[in-house]
Amino acid sequence: MTPAQATCLSDALVIGYAILEQGGPAAIAVECTIGLLEQSGLFNAGEGANRQLDGVQRMDASIMEGAHLKAGAIASIEGILHPITAARLVMEATNHVLLAGPPATAFAQYYKLEPLSKGRALRRSAGRSPASMAVAQTMELYRAMVKSQRMEKDQHGTVGAVALDRAGTVAAGASTGGVDSMLPGRVGDSPLIGCGVYADNQSGAVSMTGIGEGIIRLVLAKTMCDRLATGASPTVAARQVLRLLVSRIKGSAGALVLSPDGRFAIRHVTPYMAAGWWNGIGSPKVRGQFS
Ligand code: ASP
Repeated sequence: MTPAQATCLSDALVIGYAILEQGGPAAIAVECTIGLLEQSGLFNAGEGANRQLDGVQRMDASIMEGAHLKAGAIASIEGILHPITAARLVMEATNHVLLAGPPATAFAQYYKLEPLSKGRALRRSAGRSPASMAVAQTMELYRAMVKSQRMEKDQHGTVGAVALDRAGTVAAGASTGGVDSMLPGRVGDSPLIGCGVYADNQSGAVSMTGIGEGIIRLVLAKTMCDRLATGASPTVAARQVLRLLVSRIKGSAGALVLSPDGRFAIRHVTPYMAAGWWNGIGSPKVRGQFS
């Protein structure tokens, strides 16, 4: 984790907690926390999102609240700085859960959500293969892009958050530019309710990061919530389910897990996971690794 990322995480925690302290809803705290990370360009989301193999950023996000099990999600959205806000609007302004592709982008534009910055858009078009480029050159460019994305990968993770508000409602959210070497149109776990994100006041809230294909196959967020519902602590639920991911399918992931009584766990089977927490006492705690 770079110092800039640590500062940004800390600022995001302060923003989220301020909303909760004023009696605001957990879902809004989650949205605003993630929003700051999306606009920082320091993580694999919003301004810093990965590109798919055709050079285009297609982003995924979702949000869920645990009082009424309301959820909203966006998949393969393009050119929007805050996919998490688009997901919140799907949750609040429609009777759907998931919008995908160009119509999802049009939905965000209808609500006048902020576009990605001009600088980013220029960098993005510079990353596209010129139509005239020979196939071999294109592949070379692609391999170089993948290599540089891999080098950046350790520094640029998907972003997520969980929160518990004064009314006792939990919420979870995630926002991502996906993984390395994605086919155009690939969608990960982050916009899939129950996979990347889940929240239920009767069990808890979970936000996942990691290789989405494995997270999807084991429906990890809901599986962790189910463990919480049977009385497991967040630490035990996360540990058991992440072990299952590794032993069954050699998956790789990290989790933010929160129970409705305020206990929480941050656990990962990846080498690193930059994350933090704050309950208003002292200063926000941010680390690059959790055991
Ligand atoms: N889970 C995300 C995805 O598979 C990627 C990540 O968390 O880094 O799209």
